[in-house]
Formats: sequence, C-alpha cells, structure tokens
Amino acid sequence: MLAGIELEGRRVLVVGLERTGLATARFCLARGARVAASELRPEAQVAAAATELRARGVAVELGGHRAETFLAQDLIVPSPGVPYHLPPLDAARARGIPVWSEIELAARFLEGRLVAVTGSNGKTTTTALLGHILVQAGLPALVGGNIGAPAIGLVEASSPATVTVLEVSSFQLEATERFRPHIALLLNLTPDHLDRYLSFEEYALAKARLFANQRAGDFAVLNADDPEVARRAPAAPQGFWFSRANRVAAGAYLRDGQIFFRREGEETPLATLREVPLRGEHNVENVLAAAAAAWLAGAPAGAIAAGIRSFPGVEHRLEYVAEVRGVEFYNDSKATNVDAVLKALDAFPGGLWVILGGKDKGGDYAPLRASLARRARGVFLIGAAAEKMAAQLEGAAPLERAGTLDRAVRRAFAAAAAGETVLLAPACASFDQFENFEHRGRVFKQLVRELEHAAAGAVPGGD
Ligand code: ADP
Repeated sequence: MLAGIELEGRRVLVVGLERTGLATARFCLARGARVAASELRPEAQVAAAATELRARGVAVELGGHRAETFLAQDLIVPSPGVPYHLPPLDAARARGIPVWSEIELAARFLEGRLVAVTGSNGKTTTTALLGHILVQAGLPALVGGNIGAPAIGLVEASSPATVTVLEVSSFQLEATERFRPHIALLLNLTPDHLDRYLSFEEYALAKARLFANQRAGDFAVLNADDPEVARRAPAAPQGFWFSRANRVAAGAYLRDGQIFFRREGEETPLATLREVPLRGEHNVENVLAAAAAAWLAGAPAGAIAAGIRSFPGVEHRLEYVAEVRGVEFYNDSKATNVDAVLKALDAFPGGLWVILGGKDKGGDYAPLRASLARRARGVFLIGAAAEKMAAQLEGAAPLERAGTLDRAVRRAFAAAAAGETVLLAPACASFDQFENFEHRGRVFKQLVRELEHAAAGAVPGGD
C-alpha cells in the first residue's frame, strides 16, 4: 500500500458514472468523503446510478460539466473514458487540484502486492490467465481493473498476503502519480486509440507510466520481440523479458516447444507449448508473459503448467463459437485494432471469410492487405468505417459491403465451403451499431446459433 490518504471530510468529484465511477463514489462515501458527481450524459441514461448517489447525499450534475464544480474540489477522479485534457480537468490541474485515475486512488488503499498488466493487445487474456495460474498455485489472488471488478472494489478484500492483478489501460495510467506495481507487464505497443492521442509517441508515453514509480526491488516483464517495448525498457526495476524467438538473459522463453524461465543463469522448465489451449502465436506471447509474472510472484512450475492447461480463454477473444455444415465460426469481437486482426488472421492457415468494420478509431487499415491477400477468401464490410476500409483494402481480397452484421454472417456462411472459417475480427470499435464489443460478439454468436438451428432443422437430403 502507498501512503494512504484520508478521505474523511474531503471533497471528491467523480467524473463519469459508468461502473468505475459508481464504484469510486461508493468507496469514497464509505470513507466519509463529501462526494459529488459530474456526467456528460443526461438523466435518462444514468438514472439508476444518479438515483442511488443522490439518495446518499451526493450532488449529481448531469448533461454536462460545470467548471465551478471542478474547481471546488480537493480531489477529482475521472473515469477511464473521460479525455485527459477535458477543459475543466485542465482548469482544476492548473489550480493544483489533484486529478487521479481510479487505479491511483485504489493503489493507495490496496494491501499486499500489486501486479499490473498493460499493452496494446492481450491485457485481458494475460490478466485472466495470470489470475487463474495464481489461484491454481494456491496464492490469494484478486483480479480486476479493466477486466471484471474495478480496482477500487478490490480494496476491501485485499490483505497483506494478497496478490492483486490489475489490467490497466493507457487512459488510466495517464492520470497516475505514485501508482507503483511490484510486478509490471508491458505486452506490446502497436498503434491504437489514435483518435484520442495526438501521436503514437504520446500513447507509448502513457503506457510507460506503468514503470514510473518502480524501484530496484520491483520487476518489469517486457516483450523482447517487440522493438517498441524493448527500446522503452525502464532502468529502475529489475528487468525480465519474454520471447518466442530468442533465449533471453532473464525471463521466459521458448526452446524446443518448452517454456523456460531463466534467472541468474539458472533455467527452470515451466510448461510445454502442447499445454497451451489457446489458438495463435500471439497467445503464446501472453502465456510467456503470464508464466514469467507467475514465477516472479512465487507460483511453482507445476501450478503454472496446470494453470495454463486448464485456462478456458476469455469470451470475444478469438473464441470458437460453433461448426455449422463444416464451416467454423470464430468470435474475435475484441479485435478492435489492426494488430489484433493481423494476429487473428495469422492464427489460421487460410480459407477465411472475414467480417470487418464498425466505428473507425482513426487508424490505417492498409497494413491488413498482405495478410488478407494470403489468408482471406473474402471480406464482408459492415458499419460506419466500411467506405474508408473499402478504399484502403480494395484489391487485397474480394470485398462485399454487407452493411449489417446480420447480413455479413448470412453472406459469409453462404460463401464458405466446408473446412473454411468465418471470422469476426472487426478492426474497429463497435459503437456505431452496438452498445459495446461484448454486445457485438453476443449478437454474432446468436446469429451463428440461428444458422445452426436452421441447419439442424433442415431435412437431410432436402434443399
Ligand atoms: P486487451 O485487453 O489488451 O484489449 P485482449 O486479451 O482483450 O486484450 O485481446 C484483444 C484482442 O487482441 C483480441 O482480438 C485478441 O485475440 C487479440 N490479442 C490477444 N493477445 C494479443 C497479443 N499478445 N498481441 C496481439 N493481439 C492480441
């Protein structure tokens, strides 16, 4: 735990009433703070949260942010979706009012050891796998952050013995001050969220804040195969690496299908590749990272292997859905950026019918061309980004503007032959047609189920 802060009697403003904002408000109320809340959306969209908080004496401001509200606080905690440079936040900072993300606040109260996982892709998978391994190892592990429960909600359950594994995003890291994980994992750095950051460099700097407060007794676990990560290796913590390609001086690597951990010249076999139940080389990276962190956290090799073997994977991440008339369907709704889609395409030998599109996040889709040309038999475009994608992908693979996910699934199924695969890996956010990527993934799976039922109901030999 960091130097805890006294919330009793302090004026705390929570910005944004999503799950994290609500959890933060509850936490501060329970510690005697004078809580206010400010939210851009109108009453109708946040009615339940607003009603609960008002009943507990919180001043709730809806439908916009008032600068005066922000300037009247001792502490402001914006939710992860709130832009860093929201004008009233900048104004508050200029007055010296601390603006902390919820993980900064949580870290000041969490007891025990803290493990934080970040990167452009693979955070949720690695966080979930690491938590799963630690539990297999009998360690008192808590898992949260962007995945599952907000970090602030884990404080009550934490104790000096717990290991808290948090998935943290660049948005949360931006507004940290003393956040200091004992073990910090940086999985990869590829362009993402360029609609929110001015440049890749600015985005990478936000991620690198993960290490800003680490000291000599702490560990950094870094991807040696990613040059953008490697060139940002921090100096203060003890550096450990993971690599699919090379034997590392310290950390986890692969040799002859075996995962080893190497430290001070000593090598320990942790698991074999055959034990990895997840598809795709990118998941081998996630496994190496989680295995390295688990070993550093004190899990024995046997438990690491058992944890890897029994890991069920995470919904919407290259998730197998079903086989209908020999056509396999995979849901990778969480592939909301180009790198994740490249990894998904590479996880299959070919014969792919790929559903792409949604809400554009400001990236460039042309890097998909070569892999689509190699692996895809056809592409179905949906959503608001379809025209931009069509312009950038024209000629790489046959393209069809399907408009909706429903139509894309039916068209892809009609086109696919037995032994081929339909893959939803949109490379875009979902907010143009869906509530979020989970909703998009669930709709996709439902559409596949309908095909399955229709196929099961068809008379053998008929039609
Ligand atoms: P995050 O929490 O960082 O978004 P997820 O585990 O939810 O990461 O995976 C997001 C997307 O990226 C999914 O499409 C998944 O298949 C893909 N992915 C997972 N791990 C990696 C990785 N190490 N490198 C690139 N893509 C990955």
